[in-house]
Amino acid sequence: MKKMVVIVIIILFAVVILKSILGTIKRKKKAKNNYEENQNVFSEEKRSESQASLTESKLPEPSITKAVPIEEQYLLLNFVDEFFLKKEMIKSDEAESIVYSALESLINEKYIIIPHVGFRELFTWDWQKYYKITDRVTKMHFDFVIFTRNFMPVLVVEVWGKMHEDDPKVIERDVFKQRLLEKCGLHLVKIDVSKSMPNEKIKELTIQSIKDAVPDREKYTVYCPKCKAIMKIKPNKKEGTLFYGCSRFPKCKGSQNISDVPPLYDGIAVKAVENEN
Ligand SMILES: [Zn+2]
Repeated sequence: MKKMVVIVIIILFAVVILKSILGTIKRKKKAKNNYEENQNVFSEEKRSESQASLTESKLPEPSITKAVPIEEQYLLLNFVDEFFLKKEMIKSDEAESIVYSALESLINEKYIIIPHVGFRELFTWDWQKYYKITDRVTKMHFDFVIFTRNFMPVLVVEVWGKMHEDDPKVIERDVFKQRLLEKCGLHLVKIDVSKSMPNEKIKELTIQSIKDAVPDREKYTVYCPKCKAIMKIKPNKKEGTLFYGCSRFPKCKGSQNISDVPPLYDGIAVKAVENEN
């Protein structure tokens, strides 16, 4: 009987020790994976340099922030030297900077044009529940988003290069973006620069594309000053005029005069049907 108890105790000990060893191996493997993922961010030529700076001897003391696991600490801190301040906001694509200057000349200055707006700046979702999707969409951005002065998005502008016709993954992403914007009540304008053209032509195309896609005030988003729901242009039958009314009416009675909402650009129509009169 005594023998049995001793054996059981020994087995229990062995299991506990084995578990802790396995845990350590798992943690080290995870840290190694994180490290390798981080390495992929940098170009081939940078890789050899940064690998040298990540050797064990250069790790910062764990006492810096005890709350953060040591493997995460050294990953971030050791990479500070690898980051450089961008000299220009739009640098990757020359067409984009021409599109920007065209937008700047057209769009009412009461709006703000921001390049390269990430998904997390525009949308919210249960990112923990859908972490696999989160990983994909956090890398996505829109080329330009036009915001109100209090940072509500009114229009999205995408510059389409050649890639947009060929790559099935890019096509899927574009369809996803388009449906998502529709669902959220935002309009998308595509500037198609897939064919090469002179800068002056890109400028003209940008202005024409905006005017074609947003011919009237119903094609850019206006938010209710009371509840931030989307506003619709409605007729005031008594006075024979038009006004912005909350789409949640009668739950919300928020409204605004047309003249209180800046036109997206000079000469934009109020409503499509008005043009027929
Ligand atoms: Zn409202």
